Amino acid sequence: MSDEKFTIEQVIWVKPWSRHLFSFAITRPAGYRFSAGQFARIGLELNDRLVMRAYSIVSSPFEEVLEFFSVIVPEGELTPHLQHIKVGDSIWLEKTAYGFLTLARYQQPAPNDLWLLASGTGVAPFLSILQDFEVWERYQYIILAYSVRTAQELAYQDKIQQLKAQFGNDGAQFTFLPIVTRDPMMRLHQRLPQLIASGQLVDAAPVRLDAQHSHVMLCGNPQMVEDTKELLKAQGLTLNRRGVGNIAVENYW
Ligand code: NAP
Repeated sequence: MSDEKFTIEQVIWVKPWSRHLFSFAITRPAGYRFSAGQFARIGLELNDRLVMRAYSIVSSPFEEVLEFFSVIVPEGELTPHLQHIKVGDSIWLEKTAYGFLTLARYQQPAPNDLWLLASGTGVAPFLSILQDFEVWERYQYIILAYSVRTAQELAYQDKIQQLKAQFGNDGAQFTFLPIVTRDPMMRLHQRLPQLIASGQLVDAAPVRLDAQHSHVMLCGNPQMVEDTKELLKAQGLTLNRRGVGNIAVENYW
């Protein structure tokens, strides 16, 4: 295990959200740089072997700690161990941050409406982006749609309301659209592709999705990302390449 590639950080806090979801923060080494929306590679040493996984960073680039949001996958290699971490435990961190789900990638169309479409823990990079005041200055409308199975899994509700209160008055108009797919009593309870196809998602937002104005970021379940991307393409939006286009994606596992 090369010291050049990794640092060993300490757990600062752990917060459970539900039986299968938790967040935690680790120390941020001096010189660790990232842009809002990027992911880190973190892990544990298990049986003399490093098990590393990609985790989007929840915290803003201006914070002193690195915060992450995790689902516990019982059959997974890392999270059954990661769920037991305690304050002061060691976490391995790769020195480089990765990923292109960042605002900087968008040049055309010019920023106007930003749609952040997440499922599950895929909301993490959007929380980082929303803590960066630049996004509130650049866009007129920001729509965050966050799809989970049950209402108990809607994490970070206080944070989302706090960000709206902090930035939403002077900058972009912010709309939060929680989607709870296993609760038919919720206003939005179908999966994201269905909500887009039926027009319900757009009806719940102040602006339309279109190729001239919309920047759309997708993060979460790979099948959600794929199906939503194809649906948006069929509606005339394009994949962002070299700065041009509407859609940017990140698969989450
Ligand atoms: P998830 O299973 O992807 O569910 C999050 C949201 O994404 C739900 O609203 C779900 O809708 C939706 N979704 C799932 N597949 C989709 C698709 N193909 N297209 C559009 N939307 C889709 O994510 P998660 O709950 O964060 O779980 C991530 C992983 O952990 C999964 O492998 C899961 O099996 C495992 N896990 C999760 C839990 C838990 O309590 N969340 C517990 C144990 C294991 P639906 O409700 O319609 O599926």
